[in-house]
Amino acid sequence: MTKCSYCNQEMDETTDSCKFNQIKINDKWYSRKLISYGGETLGNRCKECGILIAPQHYHHYGCVNEECPQCWRIIAKCDCKKQALKMDDIIKPIE
Ligand SMILES: [Zn+2]
Ligand SMILES: [Zn+2]
Ligand SMILES: [Zn+2]
Repeated sequence: MTKCSYCNQEMDETTDSCKFNQIKINDKWYSRKLISYGGETLGNRCKECGILIAPQHYHHYGCVNEECPQCWRIIAKCDCKKQALKMDDIIKPIE
C-alpha cells in the first residue's frame, strides 16, 4: 500500500482520517477540504484512500476524492503549486 505523505499512515482501512488539516499552496496555508459525504454513506470507507466516511474526517493526501481548497478541482491533479510537505512543514495536527 501507499503511505500518506502528510500523516505517514497507510492509505487503507487501518486509519479513519488523515491527521493534518492544512496544506501549503503557492506559499500560503489553506485549510484542507473536509470530506464531502453527500454521495457517500456514513460509515463506509473511501474507495480510494480507505478513510472512514464521517464528519470532520480528511482524505489522505493524493486521494482523488479530495478537492483543492484554492481551485476546487481534484487536488492530486490540479495545477496549483503545492509545496512538497515535510512533517516539519505541517503546523496544525488535528487534536
Ligand atoms: Zn494521511
Ligand atoms: Zn479518499
Ligand atoms: Zn488547485
